[in-house]
Amino acid sequence: MTQNEIQNIRDDFPILKEKVYGKDLIYLDNAATTQKPRCVIEKMTDAYYRYNANIHRGVHYLSQVATEANEHARATVADFLHAANRHEIIFTRGTTEAINLVAFSFGEAFCHAGDEIVVSVMEHHSNIVPWQMLCERKGMTLRVIPMNEAGELDLDAYRTLLNEHTRLVAVAHVSNVLGTVNPVGDIIALAHEHDIPVLVDGAQSTPHLAVDVTELDADFYVFSGHKIYAPTGIGVLYGKERWLNAMPPYQGGGEMIATVRFEKTTYNELPFKFEAGTPDYIGSVALEEALNYVQRIGLPRIAEHEHALLDYTTRRLLEIDGMRIIGTAHEKSAVISFLVRDIHPYDMGMLLDKLGIAVRTGHHCAQPLIDSLGIPGTVRASFALYNTTEESDRFVEAVKRVSSMF
Ligand code: PMP
Repeated sequence: MTQNEIQNIRDDFPILKEKVYGKDLIYLDNAATTQKPRCVIEKMTDAYYRYNANIHRGVHYLSQVATEANEHARATVADFLHAANRHEIIFTRGTTEAINLVAFSFGEAFCHAGDEIVVSVMEHHSNIVPWQMLCERKGMTLRVIPMNEAGELDLDAYRTLLNEHTRLVAVAHVSNVLGTVNPVGDIIALAHEHDIPVLVDGAQSTPHLAVDVTELDADFYVFSGHKIYAPTGIGVLYGKERWLNAMPPYQGGGEMIATVRFEKTTYNELPFKFEAGTPDYIGSVALEEALNYVQRIGLPRIAEHEHALLDYTTRRLLEIDGMRIIGTAHEKSAVISFLVRDIHPYDMGMLLDKLGIAVRTGHHCAQPLIDSLGIPGTVRASFALYNTTEESDRFVEAVKRVSSMF
């Protein structure tokens, strides 16, 4: 992307003009959440101004407009993921709720004592704990795919974990700590050799690389709106129709029913069976706007820009004495976790903040991974489409300055 294009993109994000302690904000905490372009913020305001009404229930005009907007958003998400059917798209609060939904409902339908779930060592807590809870409920075992020193999953070890007890494999497409892009196509193909379904955590992939759930043959694919320039509170579960139809509802309430009698309730069809209560229909149209925004720029171009930043920043950080980059996988997304000598990540993060630079520090909700590396945590800089080389330079200079203070 040219300087001009990046400047135009930056102009779309009002928050990037904010000052932090009187300094220009440099926002490098995009893996935690991204900033929102004006069109997304305005879409939400517009929906509230012009067609706010509870969806699906009303005969009146506003309710019909709001319902159509919500279903249009569903179709856009289906296109974005290349899902075969829009009823395979369930709106959730985010990645976490989507995984909990599958862990509960798939667990109720298909899991029994003695069964196993396979996750990887680099999972976010939200792709560990719901499976642990399922294992505790049912008397099952969690098995873990290890990784090598670069932070790449050990596929040979993975192969040996798959057996007749394995009920499901759940892995991140991209690690939020290491940036590793996992070979989910291979992971899915291997699991399918044993008829085992796979859930892919797409929280960190969808903002950076084009995803085709049909080509991947993913059984479930989940992501959060707020990490892809949409508001908080909206997310997506894609699930293959045959699985979703065979799974019981996750929550009971309005909208997910066909008929309710005190003797017996029957459930609605997909996708509504899994959308109990008033959904975030403002969030869904804002998510659609964010996906359209990303598509207008184009994920391949976004990826190219972010990769250039990743390579440049990594190279420059390595100029610093005692710099250790955690996560050096061959296939990497624009996330850089690092440590400098024995400087505590928290100290580094606090001092960078005083220089106007927002990074994340700590275990990044991946405590088992951090423990396995024998480190106290990392400092993590994560990039988005609006970050620039100048910001990288200021960031590297700031890390140098902070490092020299210790
Ligand atoms: N998985 C990964 C890989 C993540 O990075 C995150 C967010 N940090 C989540 C899951 C959870 O997403 P959310 O909090 O939006 O539900």
